[in-house]
Amino acid sequence: MYNRSNSINSFAIAKIYGSKEYPQINGTVKFKQLDKGVLVTAEIYNLPYEICNKEIYGFHIHKNGNCSGNSEDEFLNAGSHYSKNDCEHPYHSGDMPPLFGNKGYAYLSFFTDRFSIKEIIGRSVIIHLNTDDLITPPAGKSGKKIACGVIN
Ligand SMILES: [Zn+2]
Repeated sequence: MYNRSNSINSFAIAKIYGSKEYPQINGTVKFKQLDKGVLVTAEIYNLPYEICNKEIYGFHIHKNGNCSGNSEDEFLNAGSHYSKNDCEHPYHSGDMPPLFGNKGYAYLSFFTDRFSIKEIIGRSVIIHLNTDDLITPPAGKSGKKIACGVIN
């Protein structure tokens, strides 16, 4: 059986939920600690899309594990991008490659040494409506937050 005590800080997961405007979005983001960094695997369903490839979504770890907010920004309390250094976007510790959708379904797996599992437990994963241009601070013009999940 899976023994959590043997694997503290070796695995984490965020269950993703859509905002009130996009309640159909759901999925998981899994984090597995390897020797030299973390393997991140995201599988997300029912992302909004339209013709002309509006299917690239900003994808970041935000600093607070809090998916609450207000009527203007439902996930405001997730805070800004997780950053353990003074670098600007897209060099925040929590900046990840954008999700590419396929009629609403996105699968992404990549490896990074920008953070360890220990550093991200208790923070959150946010999906944004628009693509991340991977240039413009503070969030690559990725726009509205449409889904969130706390990393456990
Ligand atoms: Zn950033």
